[in-house]
Amino acid sequence: MPSTETIREADRMMTICNACRYCEGFCAVFRAMLTRRGFVETDLTYMANLCHNCRGCYYACQYAPPHEFNVNIPKVFSELRVETYQDYAWPGFLAALFRRNGLVVSLAMGFGLGLVIALTLALQDPAIVFGTHVGEGAFYRVIPYEAMVWPFGLVFLVMILAMAVGVVRYWRDTAGGIAQDLSLPALIGGLWDGLTLENLRGGGGGCNYPDERFSETRRWLHHFTFYGFMLCFAATSLATVYHHVFGWIAPYGYLSGPVILGTVGGIGLLIGPAGLLWLKWKADPAPETSSLRGMDVAFLVLLFMTSLTGLLLLAFRETAAMGALLAVHLGFVLAFFLVLPYCKFVHGFYRLAALVQYAMERAALAKKAG
Ligand code: SF4
Ligand code: SF4
Repeated sequence: MPSTETIREADRMMTICNACRYCEGFCAVFRAMLTRRGFVETDLTYMANLCHNCRGCYYACQYAPPHEFNVNIPKVFSELRVETYQDYAWPGFLAALFRRNGLVVSLAMGFGLGLVIALTLALQDPAIVFGTHVGEGAFYRVIPYEAMVWPFGLVFLVMILAMAVGVVRYWRDTAGGIAQDLSLPALIGGLWDGLTLENLRGGGGGCNYPDERFSETRRWLHHFTFYGFMLCFAATSLATVYHHVFGWIAPYGYLSGPVILGTVGGIGLLIGPAGLLWLKWKADPAPETSSLRGMDVAFLVLLFMTSLTGLLLLAFRETAAMGALLAVHLGFVLAFFLVLPYCKFVHGFYRLAALVQYAMERAALAKKAG
């Protein structure tokens, strides 16, 4: 369960906000607040995940520190988000991985790299690892297809299952009571708000990040990161279809679908995480919990390195560096898969669930009113 202290603080601040209401037009959190007279734990968990940490309410608030009311909504909600990721993590004994997450992700990177490089060097002839391979099946001469697909596929599926269990448990607790209001329009509405990052627009001028000035930069960098990831995922899926449906074996031509999708996505995954790291370095630390900061940085570094090594592999795939680059890239991919349900990656799913719940609440209210 989220700590009593965090819940108590979130409740105290939301109660002040519900009396003040100055920020009622700022974002979905305040609109959700207006429909409640009091806040039980699941309300606060839902609202914390609805918060996009735009920081607009922090810089606008007359009761923010150093005022004695000490109202700091983005900070208390960021702490509550970390606690909810822990609370719903599956299996439960791995929930502690969300604490000191920077260290956990760094260890996963070391483990992934060490394991793949050690296995490649131990099981493959060095003349092949450091040789030049071109044409159909070049990658698989260094690391056989089965050795790539089965272990990686299995780890990926287990981690997707772990994430799905966490999000379903979260949904059952926070939206279970209004599940009957789930509809296609609510689903589309929540999805649209998530895909456009509507709640990072602020009042139209963007969020107050990295400082109190309004800026759209963070929203665009999020888009580079998210859509870059989705394009890389599409590239891998298309390559799987090529392999299994058409029998076309990688590596594919520079103008083929998987390579174009992977290259564009990979560039997005360099620009987005690098830009977000730069913003984070400049950002005012006051409206944020320190545990989320480590988690954010570690995840962005992992995304950046996975993309960078993938693009380097593409650029040097016809040279003697291909074998080493393939092992290093797969090491980062393995680390990414291993930490997937226990790192910042999960925030997208919890936030999407909160946005769908918000759309359901709005639809139910509209029905009641008219
Ligand atoms: S954040 Fe501050 S200004 Fe905004 S509603 Fe709450 S108390 Fe009022
Ligand atoms: S930080 Fe932004 S998204 Fe979060 S509650 Fe405040 S205004 Fe809303």
